Formats: sequence, structure tokens, C-alpha cells
Amino acid sequence: MARYTGADCRLCRREGIKLFLKGDRCYGDKCAIERRPYPPGQAGKKRPRDSEYRVQLREKQKTKRIYGLLEKQFRGYYELASRQTGITGENLLRILESRLDNVVYRLGFAKSRDEARQIVRHNHVMVNGHRVNIPSYRVRGGDLVAVGVKSKDLLVIKTALIASEKIEVPGWLEVDIEKLQGKVLSLPTREMIDAPVREQLIVELYSK
Ligand code: SF4
Repeated sequence: MARYTGADCRLCRREGIKLFLKGDRCYGDKCAIERRPYPPGQAGKKRPRDSEYRVQLREKQKTKRIYGLLEKQFRGYYELASRQTGITGENLLRILESRLDNVVYRLGFAKSRDEARQIVRHNHVMVNGHRVNIPSYRVRGGDLVAVGVKSKDLLVIKTALIASEKIEVPGWLEVDIEKLQGKVLSLPTREMIDAPVREQLIVELYSK
């Protein structure tokens, strides 16, 4: 699966908001957006005109970057969300939140979604007792997500657990730190998703 391989902090500076892509660093004084709170590049300090299209585009780009997705996959999720009953924007966020890499991050087993993706890919995560190594796998209400028995002592997971004390586990998940497992109580409603996203703007953009 193709993925963005450039500098993560540039993405935050481009969107003008902390996207929390680098774990610990995001909470310290080395955070790039704290030091340079303007877009990267030569024209960074010049504020571009805020057209309606630009505002919608930036909202979509920001959301893609929060969840670490490229356009094709993100668009696919939008198409899926628009076919579901209910509000398309909320459906989209629910789909994004239900990705296994996001759930591993939300449970505090990884410091970032990027790190969660690696942990899943390297066979360290089980869903309902079965090993799942597909980051885009979508969990359902009642699923049990756990770190595999042989992976519980991994340094990457131990350091993530320490760092995750700064992050609140959302109400739709229940974590058991001792057992390194978490339960999906239900898929989240919009109020349970704290992503700083105005999803209606994304719907307006794709509806043109
Ligand atoms: Fe974004 Fe984290 Fe980099 Fe700060 S440290 S700019 S929040 S990725």
C-alpha cells in the first residue's frame, strides 16, 4: 500500500494544526508547528486567499493526513460512506475510526497511527483471537483487539503505553492495560470522535 513518505511535521505546518503524527515529540517543545507556526516553503508566511474551494480542500487534506491515507483510499471510503444510510460525513469518520491501525493507536498500544500501522503489519495484533496484519481491517462492535502473547514485551509497545498516559481512550473503546487488549464497545457516534474535522466540508468538496 502506497503511503506518504515525506516529513510528517510539514503536514501539520501545511494544515496549520497539530495532527499528532509523531508520538512523544508532538507533546514536547520540539514540535515543529510550535516553533514555526506558518506553512512550509518560500511563500509560507504569505497567507493565501481563503476561497470556498480552498477551505474544503484543506479540510479534506487535513483529514487524510490525520488518518495517514492517500487520495485513492480516502475517496474509496467516501464512496462507501455515501452509500450507507445516515449522514455521509459522519459515516466517513466512523469508517476511518474503525480501521484497525486507528483502534490500536486509540487504545494506546502505539504512539501514532503510523506506528500502529507497523505494529499491525508485523503481526503483533490479534482480533477475536486471530492474527490480523491488515491496517485497513475494519473492526465491529464487540470485537476484541489484543497484542499477541509473544509481542507483549516489545519495546515499541511498552514506550507507547507510557506515552499514552497523555491520551484519553475514547468512550467507544474499553482498554485493559494489564492484558494489553481492548474491546470495541460499539462503533463511535460523531460526538465520540475528537478528530478536529469539519466533515461537511469534505462532503461538499466531493459532491461538486
Ligand atoms: Fe505535528 Fe507532531 Fe510534528 Fe508537532 S511534532 S508538527 S504535532 S507531527
